[in-house]
Amino acid sequence: MKERVRKQILDFKPYTPGLTLEDIREEYGVERVIKLASNENPLGVSPVVQKVLGQKAAEVFRYPQNHSPRLAAALAERLGVEPDMVVVGNGSDEIIDMLYRVVAEPGRDNVVCYEHSFSMYRMCAKLCGVEYREIPREHGLGLPMEHLARAADEHTALVFLTSPDNPTGLAATADEIAKLSRALPEGALLVVDGAYAEFAEPQDIYEAAPRLAELDNLVLLRTFSKAYGLAGMRLGYGIMPAWLASYLRRARIPFTVNLPAEAAGLAALEDEVFLSETLRVVCEGRDYLGRELAALGCEVTPSQANFLMFRPPSDATVFFEGMLRRGIIVRHLKSFGLPDHIRVNMGTESENRAFVSACRELL
Ligand SMILES: *Cc1c(COP(=O)(O)O)cnc(C)c1O
Repeated sequence: MKERVRKQILDFKPYTPGLTLEDIREEYGVERVIKLASNENPLGVSPVVQKVLGQKAAEVFRYPQNHSPRLAAALAERLGVEPDMVVVGNGSDEIIDMLYRVVAEPGRDNVVCYEHSFSMYRMCAKLCGVEYREIPREHGLGLPMEHLARAADEHTALVFLTSPDNPTGLAATADEIAKLSRALPEGALLVVDGAYAEFAEPQDIYEAAPRLAELDNLVLLRTFSKAYGLAGMRLGYGIMPAWLASYLRRARIPFTVNLPAEAAGLAALEDEVFLSETLRVVCEGRDYLGRELAALGCEVTPSQANFLMFRPPSDATVFFEGMLRRGIIVRHLKSFGLPDHIRVNMGTESENRAFVSACRELL
């Protein structure tokens, strides 16, 4: 019966989750485990959101409102766009998946992306039977903007740009995004994945939302998983031309965003104190870790995100394992095709200090 499985699916590898905090505690006999590997919020969850989640527990026997209209309206107002341009999803991952299904024709179309990027883009292409065109990066692992435009043709459905980029932390300015959008062939959508957009400084140079009115092929992706500390709720959104948003809403499975998630998103938007504290802790941590890593001989890439990518002066695998033995989980970028590089996200001040002292021991 295995022949029933579509041929695109047969060589999918099962997802191997990273070690859990308990695994590390047991395996290495350490008391305190610090996780700086998944770009989660160093301050945890907003207390305002926690309170709202408690209140919503009694309501979960009800179906949620499909497409989370209250949250979509609140987001639209903040971004200065029409509410029908916002699609709320079960993580921005759902929006990526829906974009493929709605605009990429299997067996005919292609999507364009650069190497060493978020695995979801490739996975969806494979699942959909759409050609995945991977563009090499230049020296310094920069964002190859011109090359993206050159690789696109009349069958290109989507061009992905992660900005700020994961794993490098590099960001494209709104002007660079507009230039790329205009350089693409007719019919190709430019998807700017801004999972880390809130961390870019100064915001007005990088914020592409004001350009949506003039660029009719631009799609922006955002998430509550990082700056808003809601990774476990699964809540993200896309901002796109209204005609496209309307097809996404029509084609998707009903109620993918659950009732507590919408309430959590609304509460998170209201809690400006939590967001500004998050940004302060991340930006201070980014400066501190960047300085300390450079002083220890690491090659650090300048970052606009809540993490830093660096190349330690010695073997990255040895560094990664040395960190684990000290109870600190960072991300070895082997899975991104960068075996010499490490990614570390900003933790609390005390977690950052613990990371730096572990680095001093190791390097
Ligand atoms: C973390 C991350 C996301 C967020 O995905 P969610 O499904 O919203 O949690 C999206 N894109 C990139 C590049 C990321 O690193």
